[in-house]
Amino acid sequence: MKFNTKTIHGGQKPDPAYGAVMPPIYQTSTYAQSTPGGHKGFEYSRSGNPTRSALENALASIENGNHGLAFGSGLAAIDAVIKLLEPGDEVVSTNDLYGGSYRLFNSIFKKFGITFHFVGMENAEAIEDYINENTKLIWVETPTNPMMNVIDIKATAAIAKKHKVLLAVDNTFATPYLQQPLDLGADIVMHSVTKYIGGHSDLVMGALVVNDKELADRLYFIQNASGAVCGPQDSFLALRGIKTLHVRMQRHCENGRAVAEYLASHPDIQDVYWPGFESHPNHAVAKSQMKDFGGMVSFTTKGNDYDKAISIVERLKVFTLAESLGGVESLAGHPASMTHASIPKEEREKTGVVDSLIRLSVGIEDQEDLINDLKQAIG
Ligand SMILES: *Cc1c(COP(=O)(O)O)cnc(C)c1O
Repeated sequence: MKFNTKTIHGGQKPDPAYGAVMPPIYQTSTYAQSTPGGHKGFEYSRSGNPTRSALENALASIENGNHGLAFGSGLAAIDAVIKLLEPGDEVVSTNDLYGGSYRLFNSIFKKFGITFHFVGMENAEAIEDYINENTKLIWVETPTNPMMNVIDIKATAAIAKKHKVLLAVDNTFATPYLQQPLDLGADIVMHSVTKYIGGHSDLVMGALVVNDKELADRLYFIQNASGAVCGPQDSFLALRGIKTLHVRMQRHCENGRAVAEYLASHPDIQDVYWPGFESHPNHAVAKSQMKDFGGMVSFTTKGNDYDKAISIVERLKVFTLAESLGGVESLAGHPASMTHASIPKEEREKTGVVDSLIRLSVGIEDQEDLINDLKQAIG
């Protein structure tokens, strides 16, 4: 089955009870047993729920994996991965990382004796300098947020294999429509389903997909033991989102390109960060591992003025000023005052998050409306 067919049918079949084409929302915590242990595959909804199972199978299918696990948020999914580790273990992670992942690593897991190295991975060889006998995991996010750096998954997977460490890839920005990390050699794919997979800004959810049965069993044990699962209602919504992922992504990519090209041609715009430009430093890698370049675009204004950036995001009318990304509606954010406000100015500027940086999640509205909106807001 090819990708577009998988989003609609992959891992899914009509419900056995009445043939419902969409899996019913099994809004139940527990399941009747005929005799102790005599159940029909489900005992208690933390351990398993039919609606969640349908979603987990669909997630595995679209990522070309064997096993899917769904969690109450993207961070809960990441939390489960790090719980594979022991005190004394080390992780090499992308430096330009989703802020919540950084906080989880640095403020929660560091105190349990796990060491994290935050490394610029655009040059994969740099990773090897941080690998030693305690290294157990390489954590990659690509493209990165909000600077749109692209990391070579295949090259990173080769390093992971050589040193016998796990490679996990946060595939939230790209989605399996654009890149499938397991096929490129990753061991674990992670998603904030909240974003493009859900696609409608109406749920918070996370997911992991793996191929290896033993790794899946260990993660399932953590999912059940720690308990950060998602509910059946949200599982249903995410399943519905998956069914249109390919058509939404195609439009996100088209609109992302139009917006990036418009911004690049605007006399008041300084830099536009979008991996589809041939001038993007990681364009060749992006082209080789992604089907297209996505709907995330960041830019700065000439003069790098903080107040000017604030006034642009305030004047936008079709783009909504809000955190998050990946929904059908276009969103704009100002990292320096929003997602990255807690990071000291000097620190955030080191990774490129300067005062005038604006990040757009380009939705699937009419291109002309999006461009006119940017035109009137930038002035
Ligand atoms: C949003 C996001 C997360 C965290 O997911 P939640 O669902 O908000 O917990 C992790 N990684 C990336 C790249 C994200 O955009």
